[in-house]
Amino acid sequence: MKTKKIIYSLLLSSCLSLFAVSIPETHEVVAKNSQENVEVLATYDSFSHELEKAKFSKSDMDRILQAVDFAAKKHASETRKIPEKTPYIIHPIAVANNLLTTGNVRDADVIIAALLHDTLEGTNTTSEEITQVFGKKVNNYVREMTEDSSLPKAERNRLQIANAPKASEGAALIKLSDTLYNLRDLSKTPPAGWSQERIDTYFIWAAKVAHTLPDVNPPMKQAIDNLVSTHFAYPNA
Ligand code: ZN
Repeated sequence: MKTKKIIYSLLLSSCLSLFAVSIPETHEVVAKNSQENVEVLATYDSFSHELEKAKFSKSDMDRILQAVDFAAKKHASETRKIPEKTPYIIHPIAVANNLLTTGNVRDADVIIAALLHDTLEGTNTTSEEITQVFGKKVNNYVREMTEDSSLPKAERNRLQIANAPKASEGAALIKLSDTLYNLRDLSKTPPAGWSQERIDTYFIWAAKVAHTLPDVNPPMKQAIDNLVSTHFAYPNA
């Protein structure tokens, strides 16, 4: 039994050492997995700058960079549904960055779960894998962020509002940051084929989600409200 445990922890530590653990090393991993996309790299660079300012402990910093590495590799072949087809990894990195900047969040598990929040839904990642590498708490947040992709979109949207009041604090923070990113993105570059009506409906739905979630972060909620009122004051801006 004891030998088994030792072998297991040796395997796990050799597995962990496959991750990049410095900011420049992680930059290389992100570059390689995003075809050196300029926008993605600029987003990673501002995120890593915020990380340094946030003064996480060495072990939290290592785990956060491991999560960037993990997500960049998992999302490598995926792109955003916008005309520019930006590599998908820009989204989770920016969601983690919003938490640090607008939300002033300093909980490493929440930042890590933000980086991984779309891996269960969009890639071959399993819950077991997340638990093994990043722990149970991170896995629970990611699972809370994962929708049932077998359901129709309208039903998924309805469930998001119905489930919002029950969200854990960590998942509520990530949800707010995710919504903030999507609204900023939508005001900047709407996905190909979206009508004005569809965009308006999304803004209304997003405001509803933000106001139904537990009140965990007034600055992020305020930032969402500001985007929604600007959108309806200047709908074609
Ligand atoms: Zn997302």
